[in-house]
Formats: sequence, C-alpha cells, structure tokens
Amino acid sequence: MSSDTIVAIATPPGVGGIAVVRLSGPDALAIATKHLTLPTTHYPLPTDHSPLATSHSPLATDHSPLATDHLPLPPRHATYCRFDDLDDGIAVYYPVGYTGEPTVEFSCHGSRYVQQAIVEALTGSGARLAEPGEFTLRAFLHGRLNLSQAEAVADLIDAVTPTQHRLAVSQLRGGYAQKLKELRQQLLDLTALLELELDFSQEDVEFADRRQLRALLSSLHAHLSALIASFHMGNALKHGIPVAIVGRPNVGKSTLLNALLQDDRAIVSDIPGTTRDTIEETFVIDGIAFRFLDTAGLRDTADTVERLGIERSRRAQEEALVVIHLVDNPDDLDAMDLPEDTPEKHHLVVLNKCDLLPRSTHATLRHIPLSAKTGEGLDHLKAALVQTVEGSRHEDVMLTNARHYDALVRVDQALQQVDQGLASGFPADLVAVDLRDALYHLGTVTGEVAGDDILSNIFSRFCVGK
Ligand code: GDP
Repeated sequence: MSSDTIVAIATPPGVGGIAVVRLSGPDALAIATKHLTLPTTHYPLPTDHSPLATSHSPLATDHSPLATDHLPLPPRHATYCRFDDLDDGIAVYYPVGYTGEPTVEFSCHGSRYVQQAIVEALTGSGARLAEPGEFTLRAFLHGRLNLSQAEAVADLIDAVTPTQHRLAVSQLRGGYAQKLKELRQQLLDLTALLELELDFSQEDVEFADRRQLRALLSSLHAHLSALIASFHMGNALKHGIPVAIVGRPNVGKSTLLNALLQDDRAIVSDIPGTTRDTIEETFVIDGIAFRFLDTAGLRDTADTVERLGIERSRRAQEEALVVIHLVDNPDDLDAMDLPEDTPEKHHLVVLNKCDLLPRSTHATLRHIPLSAKTGEGLDHLKAALVQTVEGSRHEDVMLTNARHYDALVRVDQALQQVDQGLASGFPADLVAVDLRDALYHLGTVTGEVAGDDILSNIFSRFCVGK
C-alpha cells in the first residue's frame, strides 16, 4: 500500500458534460467523506422500482432536505451526494480500485471551476496531486497489471481506429507477455543451475542439462523472431501504414491523392505518434489507418525544384511500407522493373487515366486500372491496400511497442551468444553472463525487471489522471 493518497481529474482537460475526479490511497475514503453530504435539492426521487432505491442509497432512506451529516459511502454503489458547497454529483467508493488501493471517484459537472475546486479541496484535506500515470503506476506496483498491460493502457487511450484499439486490447488482455514470462521462468531455472556449477567448479559437475538448455534457446529464438518480425507491421498499424505514391511528373499522383482523400469521409487528422515534420495526410480504410508520405511534395510539384522533388520522393519511398507506382501509359507497365515484395516493402502498380483507354482493354491489364479523375477503380485500389496489410499480418500476436522491440532484439542477440558459447564448450561463467543479459532485457518486457528509469520512461507517457 502506498503511504499517501493521490488525486487528479481523470477526464480530459476542459469543459464537458461531466468530469470525474479520482482519489486513491490509504485515506481515500476518510478524505472524501469529509466533503460529502446529502444534497439539499435533488433530482426527482427514485421510486421503489428504481435500482437506486436500495437500502444502501441515502436517497431511499433519508429524504430530508436539510440533512448535513457526512455520508457513509457503501462500497461499489453510486451515491448521489453534494461535494462541499460546490456541486452535486455521484460518488463511488471502491475498497480496492483500479490502483489496487481504496479509491473514491466523484462525477461532477464538467465545469473547469468545479473540477479544479474539488481537487483543491481534496488536496487541502491531505491528498497529493497525482503525477502523470501515477494511478496506473500504482496498479502496476500492486500487481494489478504487468508492465506490458500498463503500456497497453496508454495505447488504448491513444487509439483512434478499430485496428489500433484491437492491438491495444490484445496487449491489455495479456498478449505475448504471458508466454514470454513462462519462457523467462524456464530460462531463469536453467541459469540458476548453471550458476550453481560455478560453486563446484573444481569438481567438474553439470547441473544444467545442456541439451535442455539448447532446446529452450531454440524455442525462445523461434518465438522471439516471430515477434520481432511482426513489429514492422504492428508498429505501422499503430501509427498508420506509411504509403508513398511515386511516378513520373504528370502521371496523376496528386490527383490520385486528392481523390483518395475526398472519397473517404473518415479522414483522421490526428494519429498519435506520427512524425510532424513532414506534411502527411491520413485516412482510414476498413479500420486501418494509412498515412500518405510526402504529400507536400505531391501537392506542389509545380513549385518544387526537380532535384529536390526526386530526393523527397526517394526518402518517402524508403520509409513507406506500401509503394504505389503510378503510370499513365500501359507500355510503361511492361518496362517496369520492380523489386520483389518483402515484409518491409510492398509494391502496387497502378495504371492511371484509364478513362482515356478503350474500355475493352481494361480486362487485359495485369495491374490495377484506375481513373483518378473519374474515381473509377478507386475501390479496387483501396481493397488492394487493405489486402496488402491483411496478407502480411501475423494474426495471433503482434509487437507494436518500440521499447519491447528493442528489448527483444537484445534478448535474441544475447541468446545467440549463449548458443554459440554452448556449442563451443565455453565455461559456465561466460555463458551465464549472456544468460543474465538476456534475462534482464526479457524482464523489462514482462515487468519482472522494472528499474526507476524504465518506469519513469513508461509512465511519463501517460496524462495526469490516468
Ligand atoms: P502529378 O504530377 O503526378 O502529381 O500529376 P497531376 O495529378 O498533377 O496530374 C497531371 C495531369 O493529369 C492533370 O492535368 C490531371 O488533371 C490529369 N489527370 C490526372 N489523373 C487523370 C485521370 O485519371 N484521367 C485523365 N484523363 N487525366 C488525369
């Protein structure tokens, strides 16, 4: 249990219909009840059939408009009450709340003044203002969430598309952390045995079964490689799939971009985590956010010095996960020499201006025929974009978190060293060093290793009140 009680507004800053002030810690109930009384005026009283009319409800038992006694707050019940003279609202007391500690949440009217005044009243009674993410940090410290789940809470809050939401929820519900935790435990047991050998180094004994250790290493490696490989797409799904439209001047790149953006009603202008230094247009198809790179370059090709334009287009192409190669002449299609698709780069060839071609030739084309001008074929292109993503997606679990990616790459490297050490018959103490290194980095993902630097790095991403 923490030593102090923290308070913050849990709803977004600003004005709203309602706001929630959250108070959590050992004295949450005592501090809250100092301020809560039965309202002297209230909304229409509940009837006997109302779910509010329970024996716990002060409304059911005491209709006196002048009652001023401090209210008892029955656990996990919505209690209609007055907070000082500031506002009437609903208080709920959780003996064990989100944080794993006693928590009181007060829903008040969403006026800035009321929210702030309630927080000040509570700090005046002994609560402390919460740091960003401190409620979730407490939840983690009390074992209510593991570290990946705590990070998933931040992703869930940031999610703006169904796919981002699904990825965050999957991680919140355990995701890959549980499996990694089990593998880490097995590795820890074998490491302990190996280290035990060091105490008996004169006697040439082997406690740790080398065959078992190497089998575990290979199963860990298979598991880690799949996760590491999924990061490229996972990260792109989280931040929006980067797409570049490339092609010669005048093939219709900016017309296509405009057609795509105008055609889609669900334009998302604020995908978190995307780079802000280039102008990007983002929109959502079938729940997946696509991010068009270097749209500034597309939009003002006339003003852009040619050399600069080519350089920008090259960079956009490098960064893109999907490259749309746009041509406006069927003869160019045959002359194109495209690289093979890789997990990091997918290529779509699109023939624009098909409105200028005889309709009979459309069926003979190997590539997506489109008219950016009339909008014909746009749905095909969108379907192809979605298909590209779906086709290369690892369905079960996906790594979306850059910190986890870095850590797992290090784990994999350290384990490869271990494997090489074992293969070359290195002494146990050398092998153990790499094992400890792997265990450490694995632990930073599963939450068994959580130094202050790791925690502050993670929780500083949160907003106050979460
Ligand atoms: P960019 O230089 O590749 O960005 O090309 P633009 O989008 O500026 O288009 C160049 C010219 O082609 C403009 O005059 C467009 O109106 C025209 N254009 C673009 N798409 C189509 C199309 O699908 N059909 C026809 N007929 N003209 C098009």
